[in-house]
Amino acid sequence: MNIILIGPPGSGKGTQAEFLKNTYGLVHLSTGQMLRDEISEETVLGQKAKEMIDSGQLVADDLMVSMLNDTLVKPDYRVGVILDGFPRTVKQAVCLDEMLKELDRTIDHVIQIKVDESVLMKRITGRFYCGQCKANYNDFFKLPDEKDVCDICGASDFLRRPDDSAETLKTRLKKYQEETQPIIPFYIGKGVLKDVDGSLPMEEVSRQIAEIIEK
Ligand SMILES: [Zn+2]
Repeated sequence: MNIILIGPPGSGKGTQAEFLKNTYGLVHLSTGQMLRDEISEETVLGQKAKEMIDSGQLVADDLMVSMLNDTLVKPDYRVGVILDGFPRTVKQAVCLDEMLKELDRTIDHVIQIKVDESVLMKRITGRFYCGQCKANYNDFFKLPDEKDVCDICGASDFLRRPDDSAETLKTRLKKYQEETQPIIPFYIGKGVLKDVDGSLPMEEVSRQIAEIIEK
């Protein structure tokens, strides 16, 4: 079983990928990591990719798909994968489809985790964490029981990630829309796209995903 997860930053994609991994034994395949591995292992494909990156180009679609092909035939990956961050373009989606066909495999489900921008804003701009024990909090959803005191360890130094600003999130969401929107009709056309409501609690989102998969 092969699954593509699509969702904006803050949609809980990482959590749901973890759920799929633990529940169905799928392998979470990060194409960014795969690319870094191929480059550091200096494989033929990795060297080609490095040349492109060094000369300021994007790694070509067919090269990404070839790497994915080499990864998917490894024994660990035979049970199925969760793809996230790939494909990003219709051309990549078409290449991926052709490659899978040759391996006698297919994309079984494309799950889009939908969350309103206002919710994503609160999730991301509101989050902070304990500087001591790293416990997570949120201005809108989860403040410490006692003001400015960590529930877990009692410390009072809280931190925020500099990237969690409204401005950065807006830029990331815009990029996400531009990259993702074109591939949605492609998978709708193949009858494999399903939406889940990512504004619900994560256990409920997992339940919806399980329902889609087990249908
Ligand atoms: Zn703490």
